[in-house]
Amino acid sequence: MKVVFLGPPGAGKGTQAKQISHHFNLLAISTGDIFRSVSEAKDDLGIKVKTLMARGELIHDTLVVDLILSKLNASVLHQGFILDGFPRTVPQAQSLQFFLEEQSTALDAVINIKVDHSILFKRIETRVSQSNGKTRVDDTAEILKSRIDVYNNETQPLVSFYKDLGILHDIDGMKTIEDVTRDIVAVLSK
Ligand code: AMP
Repeated sequence: MKVVFLGPPGAGKGTQAKQISHHFNLLAISTGDIFRSVSEAKDDLGIKVKTLMARGELIHDTLVVDLILSKLNASVLHQGFILDGFPRTVPQAQSLQFFLEEQSTALDAVINIKVDHSILFKRIETRVSQSNGKTRVDDTAEILKSRIDVYNNETQPLVSFYKDLGILHDIDGMKTIEDVTRDIVAVLSK
């Protein structure tokens, strides 16, 4: 099974990707995790990626596409995967479609985890107030705002992209973690 998880920052994509990949024995590939480790290197690429991530901006499509597609080797395609955080733009989605077609395969489902933006802000505030005041609320809220703007401008168009392909499934991400997991399992078991 080959699955993409879509959703705004803070929707719980990472948490759900872990649960669901375990349930169906899929490989969970998180682009955020990949880039967080790239950003630790003190070379030019590491510094560039770190700066973009700190601002809540996206990393350039060609770099993202090259890196992620290189991870989708024959054994990963055979096992099946969940892509958590990729694609995030229409050109990235087109590259993924083209790549999978070349490999004579296709995505089975796109899970769109929907959460009201007001709830995303509440979630981040709770996280900040529980982190011993190490992070300033306004800083974090500001970055979240720019990440949500990026999501609305760049990633939201993927909802109709995948709806048109007939593989989009909306999931209510405002339920409990367990209920969201159960809803996703139900959709993917059909
Ligand atoms: P995430 O943990 O998925 O929210 O990703 C954290 C950050 O990594 C994002 O804010 C981007 O800067 C970068 N990133 C992750 N995935 C992508 C992607 N598919 N395209 C561009 N940038 C990405």
